[in-house]
Amino acid sequence: MKERTRYIESIYGEDPILEKVKATIIENEMPSISVSPGLGRFLTLLVRLSGAKRILEIGALGGYSGICLARGLGEEGELVSLELKEEYARIAGKNLTEAGLGGRVSYLVGDALRTMASLVEKGETFDFFFIDADKQSYPGYLDYAIQLANPGAIIAADNTFLGGKAMDESIPDDRVKAVRTFNQRIATDDRLLSAMLPAFDGISLAMVK
Ligand code: SAH
Ligand code: MG
Repeated sequence: MKERTRYIESIYGEDPILEKVKATIIENEMPSISVSPGLGRFLTLLVRLSGAKRILEIGALGGYSGICLARGLGEEGELVSLELKEEYARIAGKNLTEAGLGGRVSYLVGDALRTMASLVEKGETFDFFFIDADKQSYPGYLDYAIQLANPGAIIAADNTFLGGKAMDESIPDDRVKAVRTFNQRIATDDRLLSAMLPAFDGISLAMVK
């Protein structure tokens, strides 16, 4: 852990609920790629600041970011989380329930691009999006998020540096190309107001006008 991160974590201290989520991720042999505690706190703050009532999360894993997002919601708020693996959605759901947030979340299992297409067909709308699933689909997730967005909705995306690979034009990898395309589009799309923060593994933020 970087010295700056260690300093921040020493101020906030451990969050027992989120530490337990991390333990269940290890126990279940899931990848340890949840958002970091600092990003989790930032997501809670962003959701609360935005006043979002309906959130769409893309990529649930064990529910770490889901808990952070749901914590920012008011009593009436709702989190819909998209996850490819049924097993992960089940574990995430259990973790949100144990965190006292089970009533606010529902999981839609399957490929998120297909699920988002069906949400568009049903006329569903959201106030906040957190994009954090497979990187090659990031441009598609952005397109659907804009279609599903209420005016003023926030789109946040994780890992937009892709561990430092995003800034390397010479890497001929589909994931890298997709994230580069995503970063270019979120920065230049006239329907969005956006910023990319050099924090964590790259955080992109946009507001749908
Ligand atoms: N947001 C989580 C971490 C997500 S990791 C957190 O910070 O707590 C990425 C997740 O996306 C994994 O759980 C993976 O199974 C899921 N995923 C990968 N491809 C997907 C797809 N095509 N559709 C939906 N989910 C997908
Ligand atoms: Mg991530």
